[in-house]
Amino acid sequence: MVICYIGVGSNLGRRRKNIKLAIKLLAALKDTRILKTSKIFKTLPCGGPAGQPDFLNAALKISTNFSPLVLLKKLKKIEKELGRSAGVRFGPRVIDLDILLYGDRSINSKVLTVPHPRMFKRDFVIKPLSQVL
Ligand code: ADP
Ligand code: MG
Repeated sequence: MVICYIGVGSNLGRRRKNIKLAIKLLAALKDTRILKTSKIFKTLPCGGPAGQPDFLNAALKISTNFSPLVLLKKLKKIEKELGRSAGVRFGPRVIDLDILLYGDRSINSKVLTVPHPRMFKRDFVIKPLSQVL
């Protein structure tokens, strides 16, 4: 099992419900356990189109047997199930699931960068993450 940290965000629709449902779907994945869940924080959007709604953000500590790429696939599947459609980069989204940390691995591939490149200086990641580390 590997310890991972997942960032969860939503700024469209019933945001709190979207986050809770995403956590439920994550918990239902095979060989994956949620070890800690942060509080849900309200954060201002940074970047992306002007005037988009505020975000709610949370972070999770999980353990999983999935490889990084399989975990990414599972996260994308959950995003789809919750109705996320392709949109503007950094634009509004029903749900966003990011791999913040995967064990002590450093990954730089076309589809996956871990640690997540924008995590260190973003309040919306750091605040919830610091509750589950
Ligand atoms: P962002 O989360 O950066 O605002 P998206 O959720 O639309 O944007 O993700 C765009 C792409 O980022 C995904 O298709 C995925 O392949 C890639 N990606 C790179 N690193 C990560 C990561 N650590 N966690 C999640 N997605 C990642
Ligand atoms: Mg994402």
